[in-house]
Amino acid sequence: MKEKSINRKSFIKKTTLGALVGTSLLSCKPKSEKSDGSAAIISQKKYKWKMVTTWPPNFPVLGEACNYFAQWVEEMTGGQISIKVYGGGELIPALECFDAVSGGAAEIGSGASYYWAGRSPATQFFTTVPFGMNAQQMNSWLYCGGGQELWKDLYANYNLVPFPAGNTGVQMAGWFNREINNIEDFKGLKMRMPGLGGKVLERAGGSAVLSAGSEIYTNLERGVIDATEWIGPYHDYNMGFHKIAKYYYAPGWHETGSTLEVFFNKPVFDNLEPRLKTILETAAYRMNAWTLAEFEAKNNEYLQRLITEENVELRQFSKDILSKLKEYTSEMLADITAKDEDSAKIFKSYDAFRKNIKQWSSHSEKPYHNLL
Ligand code: CA
Repeated sequence: MKEKSINRKSFIKKTTLGALVGTSLLSCKPKSEKSDGSAAIISQKKYKWKMVTTWPPNFPVLGEACNYFAQWVEEMTGGQISIKVYGGGELIPALECFDAVSGGAAEIGSGASYYWAGRSPATQFFTTVPFGMNAQQMNSWLYCGGGQELWKDLYANYNLVPFPAGNTGVQMAGWFNREINNIEDFKGLKMRMPGLGGKVLERAGGSAVLSAGSEIYTNLERGVIDATEWIGPYHDYNMGFHKIAKYYYAPGWHETGSTLEVFFNKPVFDNLEPRLKTILETAAYRMNAWTLAEFEAKNNEYLQRLITEENVELRQFSKDILSKLKEYTSEMLADITAKDEDSAKIFKSYDAFRKNIKQWSSHSEKPYHNLL
């Protein structure tokens, strides 16, 4: 009792002092670059940068967030950094952003780390893991649980510096032209599904296709794919998938809170003065918060439109299907972590954090949601 009381008093004292030194909360304290006095020297050097994105030009939410990012950075730097945003295909093909920024052809990129699984399978863990953490838990792992450091270490191998810069929240399972009543219905199904979810789909007998946002509608319309997942009602409505697919399935077991990213060419970022680095990181934080807020604000309105105006059939995967997909997910994770050292290291951190936060959630979010 006495020890607890001392700890509490000491915590309050430290909190009052604004220090928090010596407590576990220190793990969440943002690190700042400094301080040899160089931060006091404010350079007036101007930067004109290109931001290449995987999203079509001015794409709702995702492209808009990139435009906002450029605007916020320009405002915060008083025009010292100006950024021209390019949609996918405007300067380079959508899925070449990673290489373009890595090689220095552009200074900034925006996408989702699971698009780069071909470079390293470990990139996928920074977007989402099937049946994994939700948006707030992902943020917690990335910002305060060591996730972002692991992400930076991995991307350093590719001459890049990444930051979380958006989250979709729990997605929808996708658009299908046939009913999915049992796990066998996935057999032979060609479905657009990036990331680790795609690997699970393959275990269920389907084939996963990776295509950028701009290509999905045409691929589905022409039968290049039989089904697609995308994000959630607001975005899916704007993509028009209801015009070419009949069934809309929930829940997005494969993307439970997908983190989006901005990444910088490493030497470009590393050579900036600390003030500008802080501004860029802060703008990424704002982009992260805004994107999730925008999706959450609009999703139900558009879900209702899809159901009432577009006569979309909203379905849910059965418990049996989901439990089988969960089983395949465990097999897939065992396989990927056995084959790839970086994946093993990153998933170890992800999984430990998930187990820990799941315990807390079972006493907080879960009972609360069950009351609603
Ligand atoms: Ca998706």
